[in-house]
Order: sequence, then C-alpha cells, then structure tokens
Amino acid sequence: MSINAIVRNDWTVSEVQALFNLPFNDLMFQAQTVHRANFNPNEVQVSTLLSIKTGACPEDCKYCSQSARYSTDVDKEKLMEVENVLEAAKKAKAQGSTRFCMGAGWRNPKARDMPHIVKMVEGVRELGLETCMTLGMLSKEQADTLSDAGLDYYNHNLDTSPEHYNQIITTRTYQDRLNTLDNVRGSGMKVCSGGIMGLGETSVDRASLLVQLANLDKQPESVPINMLVKIDGTPLADVADLDNFDFIRCIAVARIMMPGSHVRLSAGRDAMNEQMQAMCFLAGANSIFYGCKLLTTDNPEADADMMLFKKLGINTERLNAQTEGQQADEEYALRTAIVNSENKDLFYDATAK
Ligand code: SF4
Repeated sequence: MSINAIVRNDWTVSEVQALFNLPFNDLMFQAQTVHRANFNPNEVQVSTLLSIKTGACPEDCKYCSQSARYSTDVDKEKLMEVENVLEAAKKAKAQGSTRFCMGAGWRNPKARDMPHIVKMVEGVRELGLETCMTLGMLSKEQADTLSDAGLDYYNHNLDTSPEHYNQIITTRTYQDRLNTLDNVRGSGMKVCSGGIMGLGETSVDRASLLVQLANLDKQPESVPINMLVKIDGTPLADVADLDNFDFIRCIAVARIMMPGSHVRLSAGRDAMNEQMQAMCFLAGANSIFYGCKLLTTDNPEADADMMLFKKLGINTERLNAQTEGQQADEEYALRTAIVNSENKDLFYDATAK
C-alpha cells in the first residue's frame, strides 16, 4: 500500500496544526498527491439534496435558519408526501445526480414518521439512485430500520470541535452526536459526517474537528466541509468571515487525513466564485451538491455547475453498479445540460443569486 493510501486513526491536534501551517503550495501539493493516489482527480461525485421537512426545529444550532428559536425567513413545511419526494428524485436523476439526499429539520425522527421515511428510501432506491438521509439523532433501532429499508448513507455532522461546540449548540451534546454516528455505523450504513467552517472557531478548533472525524473507528465515507452561510435572524448572522484560504486549507487537510473519503464541497458554494471552487477541487474536494436548494440556502444552478465542470475537464463520478444503458442515459442527461448551458450566458457569475 502506498503511503498516500494509509488510513490513520491516531491523528493528534498538534500534528494537524502543523499541516495547517504548511506553506499553501506545499499543502496543496501534498493534498493533490494523496488525492491522485486514491481517486480519479478529474471526477466529482454529484448529489442532490431535498428538504423533506423544513423549519420549526426545537434545537438551537446557532447557524441554522430552521431553528424555531430564531426569527428567519424560512417557511415552515410539513413532512413531504412520498410521491412528491419521488418526483424530485426523478428530476435529480435526469440532471445527472447519482445520490439523492433527503433532509428533515428534526431533533430526531418520531415513531409516526418512520413508515413514511422508509417508503421514501425504498422508492428512491427503486429509481436506481443511492440514498442518503439527514434526520437528526437516531436511536440504534431507527438506524437498523433505515438500514433494512436500504438507506445507503446517513448524514450527521459533528459541526465543530468538542471545545467550541457549546458556543454553537446547547440542546444536544457532542457525545449525542458521536452516539448517532455509532448507531449508523453499527447498522451497516455508510457514514456522512463533517463540519461547518466560519462559526467563529479558531484554527485549533478546525484541526480538532478534523481529528475527531479522522479518528473515528472507521473514517466517514463522506466528509462534507461547509462554509457558514450567514442567515439573518440567527445568532451567527454577523460573525466574522472566514478567509477563503483558510477554508481551502480545511479541504486539503481533510483530504490528507481521510485519503479514502469523498470530501464534499458543501454549503456555502453559492457564494464561491469559479476560481475558489476550482481551488477546492485541486485541494481534494470530489463531491458536491447541485441543482437545487441546499436544504434552505441557495446553491448554484445545475447548468452553472456543468459549465464549470466543462471548463475544468471534470466528469461526474458514476455508480459502479450502473449498467451500460444507465450510464448512457446519464451521459445523455449531462450532455444535454451542458449543451443547454452553452445557449445561455457564457459568463455566468457563480456568485450571483
Ligand atoms: S441544524 Fe438541524 S438540528 Fe440544528 S436547528 Fe437546524 S434543523 Fe435543527
């Protein structure tokens, strides 16, 4: 096994700080070297995220537009009907997504919701898409039920370092989050877990968060790295901006520490110009959400993503299990998206809302 493919679960914060403190070009070179040893550097996995239940969440996550404790512009919506979710999944597939993620603003799913959730998972799987959900905390039984229904991934972020955590959330503990990740892993589902940068944390906090993720018994298959989207009405609406280079460094360090994981350039991408996104791909990000709202925040339109991919020579990663026919369908959908985008404004500004 090459040194770049060794997965370590014994990272220390000081070791990770040393990575963060490398000259930028040296860090990028290391990250790109690890990336190339483990992935096709010109492929990005594409997921679509749908909010299946929005707002009125009892938790107090200080960045979140969906918390019932803050006065934000988010319209509350009840749990979506299963058929509407499946319609959205079909559309996502037609636009080239290989994974469909469904998110609900809950502390945890209630027993009465579980049968609907299970039907959504089964229906989306039948469409030939990978499935992912983010529904808050899960008990062991709930994790097993979702796993039995065929849910491929469960997302539950650690958000920030254990040291900074109480500044951000007080209604659940860091250990609650780790317990949910344990339940998900124990059920056989794949783990999607990452964090949010720009919550007013220090660089040591960023190192400490990545240590938590990398030192899990098994590293998450998917690691979303989010840039805070500041929402009016939330306590973090006016927090100081995180420098773009500090964010790119987070992606690069995550890539080095978790060589086999998909590192997802996640929330906040809408405010990043094309050059910034390209730097994130160079740092080792190889997964994005595209095509619709990222739960409740804006995300670049699908055709802007296709344009950027075309400029960078990036292809979307396909599911291994796909048949040739399915691959051809997907290729056709992507080509159509690219052709359509060529008829529009060639100088699309990815930062425009
Ligand atoms: S991040 Fe999730 S748990 Fe926290 S307030 Fe928002 S919807 Fe609720």
